[in-house]
Amino acid sequence: MPELPEVETIKTALAHSIGKCVIKGLIINNYRLRLPVPHDMSEKICHQSIIDYQRRAKYILIHLSNNLSLIWHMGMSGRVKISDTKPTTIEKHDHIILETTNGWVTYNDARRFGVFTYCETNRLNEHPLLKKIGLEPFDEKLTDAYLRNRFQKKNVPIKVALLDQEIVTGIGNIYASETLYLAGIDPTRPAKDISADECGILLSSFRKVLSDAIAAGGSTLKDYQKPDGSLGYFQNLHCVYNKTGQKCPQCTCDINQTGGIRKIVQAGRSSFFCPQKQK
Ligand SMILES: [Zn+2]
Repeated sequence: MPELPEVETIKTALAHSIGKCVIKGLIINNYRLRLPVPHDMSEKICHQSIIDYQRRAKYILIHLSNNLSLIWHMGMSGRVKISDTKPTTIEKHDHIILETTNGWVTYNDARRFGVFTYCETNRLNEHPLLKKIGLEPFDEKLTDAYLRNRFQKKNVPIKVALLDQEIVTGIGNIYASETLYLAGIDPTRPAKDISADECGILLSSFRKVLSDAIAAGGSTLKDYQKPDGSLGYFQNLHCVYNKTGQKCPQCTCDINQTGGIRKIVQAGRSSFFCPQKQK
């Protein structure tokens, strides 16, 4: 699933390659996404100028000259393809194709958990999809004290609290495991027992994990136009995610004795951690 760094990379790619331009046309091959695509989408957005791109949580917001904004979420499996010319073939799951004066953007989503809708720009904060979202990871209002205060009210393990989008938005399942690994904190510990100092370590850890991933996305951006024009996900940076039984990068222990990186399930999601390093 695209997480915050991938969505940030897609947003940057759109801003770089499509940028500020006019939407000329919209082809909707399938209206049945997680929320139905509004039937008046074309008349609302065609012939409008794109004036800015923004990311909020895992939503890409595209602000238009008529005070409407597109709200776009990639769901579980969404991909974006950008091309200079009209795509010659329509692939299965190419649900939406946007024609602009700067090129063509295709949204492909095999599982259709995505969202493509619009809202008045000045009412975005009240939109049901956006109004409950917590602080962005890099928001300066996000402090150790804020985290400690919110975690103390949660009767769940710290891994589950990190995934709570109403506390901090954009830490998905992969980066929650990676953050706890970097912070040296056991994912099963109760959130309310995490000390103020540890909240500070968590804060710097998820900022580092996310900014490294965003930087990796940025560095791959120049080659993003693969033959199909799609943007890759970058999953080779991970230390523990999906590495059950392997040695973690910071361990000198013998995996034949320790079993290496362990996988457990918390609130229905897989967590990966090193019991030697994370306490
Ligand atoms: Zn280890």
